[in-house]
Amino acid sequence: MTTYEPVIGMECHAELLTQSKMFCGCANEFGGAPNMRTCPVCLGLPGSLPVMNRQAVQLVLRTALALNCEISRDCLFARKNYFYPDLPKGYQISQYENPIGMKGWLDITLEDGATKRVRIRRVHLEEDTGKLVHAGGNESEVDYNRSGVPLMEIVTEFPPDMFSADEARAYLEKLRSILVYLGVSDGKMEEGHLRAEPNLSIRPAGTTGVGVKTEIKNLNSFKSVYKGIQYEVERQTAVLESGGAVRQETLGWNDLRNETYHMRFKEEEQEYRYFPEPDLVPLHFDDADIEAARAALPELPDAKRERFVSQYGLREYDAEILTASRPLADYYEEAAGDGADPKAIANYVTGDLARLMNASGQEITEIKVSPVSLRELIQLRDSGKITNAIAKQVLPEMFETGWSAQAIIDAKGLAVVGDESAIAAEVDKVLAANPDVIAKIKAGNEKSKGFLTGQVMRAMKGQAKPDVVNRLIDEKLAQL
Ligand code: ADP
Ligand code: ZN
Ligand code: MG
Repeated sequence: MTTYEPVIGMECHAELLTQSKMFCGCANEFGGAPNMRTCPVCLGLPGSLPVMNRQAVQLVLRTALALNCEISRDCLFARKNYFYPDLPKGYQISQYENPIGMKGWLDITLEDGATKRVRIRRVHLEEDTGKLVHAGGNESEVDYNRSGVPLMEIVTEFPPDMFSADEARAYLEKLRSILVYLGVSDGKMEEGHLRAEPNLSIRPAGTTGVGVKTEIKNLNSFKSVYKGIQYEVERQTAVLESGGAVRQETLGWNDLRNETYHMRFKEEEQEYRYFPEPDLVPLHFDDADIEAARAALPELPDAKRERFVSQYGLREYDAEILTASRPLADYYEEAAGDGADPKAIANYVTGDLARLMNASGQEITEIKVSPVSLRELIQLRDSGKITNAIAKQVLPEMFETGWSAQAIIDAKGLAVVGDESAIAAEVDKVLAANPDVIAKIKAGNEKSKGFLTGQVMRAMKGQAKPDVVNRLIDEKLAQL
């Protein structure tokens, strides 16, 4: 049997974070009663005229620059004509030739830590459609609240640079992270604010051509992108192996059955009859516009990751995790400021705190442990006021209650026991109870000491310092 590898291109749509819609003054918001945010323009009523949303243009320019694109100095909007009830005008205003951004790229990090460059063919601005609600029976209803919401489309270059479901997911994660860093999208895939459409063909592994592709429409999670690609690779492989030919088609994704389903063949697809939109003036960017937008770009994930490595001495791996989301990076930097050990803070944020967040399903922006109180916890530990064991025990309580570490330590009497005679008394008890272990140690089995330390630590409820415990054990053993 031939082994095949996938060849993958990605189209992504992001709803832009503007106040109002693309060509009218209706609010750009999510949810609410159907058809409340509509007007003659976004309902496509005859005689209404579009007015361009300047902020939306700025957000696409910002994205194109962040994705290392060349900027088209002059771009036209175009009418993309097709008929569907969610598109009341009978055409979508989009961009065709000269999109705002062209020939860009972004770098993704692969499983083995290597980076790979994925080229981007275009970044353009268009408007979203309304939403059909299939109410059951023979009825469908339409909600135009989303009609005319500014939509950005980002398409990867041809021939494609991605050859596995992992790479495609890494691309999408990186793109989402950049869009959220830029403040152009909220990145909420589950609400359809960021949607992905993988285009995929397969070829015998080791060859360089591209086969006939299929396109999976409107995926709204990383998981469905991953699974959809895997499913399509298997399906196309089975088609070729049985002597058939893949047909160019547009597919939907069934999230419950984990399979793609046929929507339409390419030959059934509409002829869009693009032509320049006569109701809008052409866009023009001069050097000053472009340089001003470039200068206003925030620090992006790659640059932040490199800075975290050099400024805080973090490992690449930790820096990658901490900078994957901007709120997480901000949280970390606030906690790491002001004298606490930045590596210890990174360990807590990517370790214990991440586990607590996973278990409770909370995002970093929702938790009750502020960056400052995390820093205080670690400072209490590093200054020797509490042991590491107690710090690990206090964090879940902080997470649960929102109390400061100090308050919990005071309320529960968890501070380090400074009185060595109290520890020495426990050491005596443990030694008296374990003559067999002492015999082993005397016989040269140093490792058995760890058992004694553990017993004393347990008796002290984690409030004795391990080095003090070890010293006392050594002293007592020497006297035996
Ligand atoms: P369409 O017009 O059908 O949407 P495009 O030419 O706009 O197709 O390409 C959409 C995406 O699909 C791009 O990322 C492109 O690189 C990718 N693509 C095009 N042809 C193939 C193919 N044969 N196999 C895999 N991906 C492809
Ligand atoms: Zn409107
Ligand atoms: Mg397409």
